[in-house]
Amino acid sequence: MTGHLLVSYNEKDTKRCLIVGESRDEGRWKMSFLTDNLIPIFKKRELAFRERYREAEDVYTFVFDKDKDLSWKAGQYGLFSIKHKKIKKGTKPFSLSSAPAEDAVRITTKIAGEPSEFKQALLEMERGTKIGMSGPLGPFYLKDRGPALFVAGGMGITPFRSIIKQLHLTGTGAGMSVRLLYLDGEKSYIYRSELGEKAGDSPISVSYLASRDELYGEIDEYAALHEDGKYFVAGPRSLVDAVSVYLQTKKVPKRNIAKDAFFGY
Ligand SMILES: Cc1cc2nc3c(=O)[nH]c(=O)nc-3n(C[C@H](O)[C@H](O)[C@H](O)COP(=O)(O)OP(=O)(O)OC[C@H]3O[C@@H](n4cnc5c(N)ncnc54)[C@H](O)[C@@H]3O)c2cc1C
Repeated sequence: MTGHLLVSYNEKDTKRCLIVGESRDEGRWKMSFLTDNLIPIFKKRELAFRERYREAEDVYTFVFDKDKDLSWKAGQYGLFSIKHKKIKKGTKPFSLSSAPAEDAVRITTKIAGEPSEFKQALLEMERGTKIGMSGPLGPFYLKDRGPALFVAGGMGITPFRSIIKQLHLTGTGAGMSVRLLYLDGEKSYIYRSELGEKAGDSPISVSYLASRDELYGEIDEYAALHEDGKYFVAGPRSLVDAVSVYLQTKKVPKRNIAKDAFFGY
């Protein structure tokens, strides 16, 4: 629908007046861009470090106390800033790997070889050390209860851990059809014990994959069965772009593909 006046001018409501004169689709997009990205970036807070634990050889989860007024949509990320020392590139984005229904903010990351100053600083944190967080940010979350295919590449599993945990903890996954394809060339498959295979009453089925050929095979099967499925793809940018292009060759419309590209990997 183009040229449709969606809302009238309202000085007091800046969010709404920004979409005056836009088409319904453009207006919706701008509104969600504002609410998912622009407005939350100004929401800054400090979180106290609680503990860290190892998920795998080089993968750590960092746990922070969660303020009562902090919530997010499972799948979103925050911009985290090192506060306890001065470093270059002191702010980086990380998906919130905990579910909003959990009692903590968690981020999970790989720290190997010669880590960046940022990751060294993460490792140096002690109980109570403050970290800055802006957000929550991003449109990478479930918007309806329709069938969904999650594609995770390596560390790209973090937003899905949050989404799946949230579905379990709130019981809202019942009756939904969600499938996770988890590609990890190193086969470490962090969170595997939590994600399960096709565990008990879990509505989520998971395939653990080690190659792109396997991944594309699974996508073909899924796409053939679910004409209007929604696709969520997260991980290194190269993988996210390749899967997105592949999906489009399978006639999946762009609007059904949500991408979370982990720049920096
Ligand atoms: C929306 C969003 C969400 C994100 N969520 C997460 C998340 O949940 N977990 C997470 O770990 N990261 C996440 N990232 C990426 C994160 O912000 C960092 O860019 C990433 O962890 C790399 O960290 P680093 O630059 O501190 O480098 P380090 O990991 O310390 O690596 C040091 C150097 O080696 C290079 N390097 C590291 N690994 C590789 C590799 N596999 N291939 C090639 N070069 C490499 C890096 O470029 C860097 O220069 C996310 C990014 C975005 C945009």
